[in-house]
Amino acid sequence: MKLLIMGPPGVGKGTQADRIKDKLKILHLSTGDILRAEVEAKSAIGVDAKLYMDFGKLVPDHILIEIVKERISKDDCENGYLLDGFPRTLPQAEGLDEMMHSIGHDLECAISLTADEDELVERLIKRGKESGRSDDTPEVIRNRQKIYWEQTAPLLDFYRGKGILKEVDGSGEIPEITERILDVLK
Ligand code: AMP
Repeated sequence: MKLLIMGPPGVGKGTQADRIKDKLKILHLSTGDILRAEVEAKSAIGVDAKLYMDFGKLVPDHILIEIVKERISKDDCENGYLLDGFPRTLPQAEGLDEMMHSIGHDLECAISLTADEDELVERLIKRGKESGRSDDTPEVIRNRQKIYWEQTAPLLDFYRGKGILKEVDGSGEIPEITERILDVLK
């Protein structure tokens, strides 16, 4: 099963993706995690990406498209994966369409997690204090929210148009939200 999960920063995409991958026995591919590993390794991609990530800006599309294309072409992805944090722009969504088509993969569902905006900012500020993530400061959080609404939210229509969008309420307890997601996938 090939899926993707989207939603504004702080909605719990990563947490839910991690639980869903266990339940469905598929891979969880987070472009944020991949990029953070590149930054940590101080690779050429990482050094470049950090300049954007630290300000809550999107890393350029061509870099993301290359990373995801390489990753989903690997054998371990044949059985299924859940993309988390990709695509985030229309060119990325079109790039994903193209690359999946070229390797014979079929995107079954785009899950959109929704929640109250103020609650999300609170959650992220708390996460920043706990995890020390350099992009979880109030100013950067606001920038990431703004970018989500400007650049990523239009993808909802893109996937709605394809008839594979499933909107799921992302508020409440973690296990409850997981159940809601599994329900829409049935
Ligand atoms: P995330 O962990 O998904 O919140 O991603 C953290 C940061 O990585 C984002 O704020 C971006 O700077 C970068 N990033 C992750 N995924 C993408 C993507 N699909 N396109 C552009 N930038 C991305």
